[in-house]
Amino acid sequence: MIDLVIRGGQVIDGSGSGATPGDVAIDAGRIVEVGPSLTLSARRELSADGAYVTPGFVDIHTHYDAQVLWDPLVSPSSEHGVTSVVIGNCGLGLAPVRPPDRPAVQRLLGGVEDIPQDALDEGIQWSWENYPEYLKALDSSPRSVEVGALVGHAALRVYAMGGERAYRDAARPDEIAEMADQLRQALAAGALGLSTSRSPLHCDCDGRSTPSYFALDEELNALAEVFRSEGRGVIELSFRGSAGDDPDAIEGELAWMRDFAVRAKRPVTFGIAQLDACPDRWKLAYDRALDARAVGIELRPQTLGRMQSVLVGLQTVHPFAYRPSYLALGELPLAERVQRLRDPALRQRILSEEPLPAPENDPFAVLFDYAGDRVFILDENPDYEPGPEKSLAALARREARPEIEVLYDLLLEEDGQSLLLYAVANYSAGDHGVAYEMLSHPCSLMGLGDGGAHCGLICDASVPTFLLTHWSRDRQRGPRFPIEWIVHKQTADPAALFGLKDRGLLRPGLRADINVIDFSQLQLERPRVVHDLPAAGRRLVQGARGYVATLVAGQITREHGRDTGARPGGLARAHAV
Ligand SMILES: [Zn+2]
Repeated sequence: MIDLVIRGGQVIDGSGSGATPGDVAIDAGRIVEVGPSLTLSARRELSADGAYVTPGFVDIHTHYDAQVLWDPLVSPSSEHGVTSVVIGNCGLGLAPVRPPDRPAVQRLLGGVEDIPQDALDEGIQWSWENYPEYLKALDSSPRSVEVGALVGHAALRVYAMGGERAYRDAARPDEIAEMADQLRQALAAGALGLSTSRSPLHCDCDGRSTPSYFALDEELNALAEVFRSEGRGVIELSFRGSAGDDPDAIEGELAWMRDFAVRAKRPVTFGIAQLDACPDRWKLAYDRALDARAVGIELRPQTLGRMQSVLVGLQTVHPFAYRPSYLALGELPLAERVQRLRDPALRQRILSEEPLPAPENDPFAVLFDYAGDRVFILDENPDYEPGPEKSLAALARREARPEIEVLYDLLLEEDGQSLLLYAVANYSAGDHGVAYEMLSHPCSLMGLGDGGAHCGLICDASVPTFLLTHWSRDRQRGPRFPIEWIVHKQTADPAALFGLKDRGLLRPGLRADINVIDFSQLQLERPRVVHDLPAAGRRLVQGARGYVATLVAGQITREHGRDTGARPGGLARAHAV
């Protein structure tokens, strides 16, 4: 008698090969058999009639570093079939850390990733100093998904150099040795690798550039050497100019990444999107990755797989924020603000005003030097590849009204809770042609969902569901992908790169991290603003329908859209090659 059999589904095993009818048998948290009409008897049977059975999704680019400490559901990722998340991306992390430096690493995470400091103050219960202690803390708090962690270079630097010098100076040889030693201990204890940021735009709440930006070659090479001697782990990074701030840096950065991958003898992965300022730059990165692969060097550009967008709304960001009469409303609760904004006289005044210059610590204010053909309506079934006819510009033309006036009125809909999509990357041509090229490229890696981050701007943690519905079913404006490919890109592919060899495939002996998906019903809901962070902090969430069940280590964590209360998720450790 085994624990569970999932019966009668179409099995997509994660390898990329075609779906086949079959059952999946599970015992003691592992898959024991996959095949048609299994005769094993089980304590429980789960019907997958008419549904797909896939491995659980592995999201390798999140910033849930703090959230996993207070939210056992790791929401919203767990609602999108995600069974493993990787934290510690982009050079950020909460360990190693000495007690006096806790505020510094916290203010960096909150500053770079737009997470409210009040939430971090209240939500983080510090109980570690070195990295192995941190991993133990992650492993011992029960949650519904598995968590794997990269070591953030910024924290390493602050640990070795102190909270002042780390933000300013080159490291001394003894400090470099300390960083290397801490990294070695972390990898040995189960860290999945190292992340770093070379972008001066990654700033803490006080406007200081991230410590890793100040690292010189000597320091980086010493860290690469740790990887070479340990023979495990992956390196993730934000490269210099990644936000389009320094478009000419890309050649040098790609050469540096390749050199680092050679020194470390380990894969290097980095996010790159198509930006309007340099719409062909992403291609260079993908070409270089292919050149590198030809000689056995792994460079893996990460893509979101759709437009990157900011959600515009009265509770998030909008172009009226710095107009004097809007500012005069102060911090009124939403309902009151909406009531005031509906007043025709105030409306007229705000519409006629020029905005004041935005403060420097609001980097997103510049976004709103924006174009109406980049803003799109989000309706009940969110469309992330909207045609030009769905843009604010088109709507304003149809109504023969100024765009800004139409936008003002749209923001007041649904009692001020409406959200609009503002395309900021991967959408220069106004469709998903580039996203398609990225997704089909042999070196691409699914990532950049940024779960847990940019709480007041984006909700891309829902992208695992989007990839299935849009690319394998709904897309009308260009070619689609077989669902087996989309599943592979979120399961076996990332799991293998991150050394998570016990998951990502439906094979006997591997972990029973599994999704049962009613594909005909699979649907993203609309994103919405909630205030459920610690200290009533604000964030964006997004749900989905159509997941029949999600299993982690053989336990059903979600069934028909509901949390079952099971908390089998621990620490995801890398397995040596
Ligand atoms: Zn990131």
